[in-house]
Amino acid sequence: MKVVLRKVNKTPLDFDIKFNEITFKGYLQYHTGKLILLKANLEGLLPKSCDICAEEFMMPVKEEIEFFISDGIYEDENNIEFDVVESFDGNADIDELLNSEIELIKSDYHSCDECKHSNLNLK
Ligand SMILES: [Zn+2]
Repeated sequence: MKVVLRKVNKTPLDFDIKFNEITFKGYLQYHTGKLILLKANLEGLLPKSCDICAEEFMMPVKEEIEFFISDGIYEDENNIEFDVVESFDGNADIDELLNSEIELIKSDYHSCDECKHSNLNLK
């Protein structure tokens, strides 16, 4: 799903997309200057290889996502307390944003239930 950033205004523009077992539901809203706010919930099950035994398992995820999308290069360096994703073609590709969030979650350290249990037993 692609959204033309110029068309996003103060009225929240809802989106609700599904990717396998994951739902990504939220809205885009015009903030200020070139910035568009994206606020969403990412929830569902994600296939992930265990970082201990390398077995694949379904990892439950529930994340609140909030960042800004800049329509073009983001130059205002006075406001660096929030995440800004730059768009260079005037569009926000929600599927692509979801994909990068998923990759980010996957890159964290996660172990399957079995390994979590055997870890507990060792202690
Ligand atoms: Zn494991």
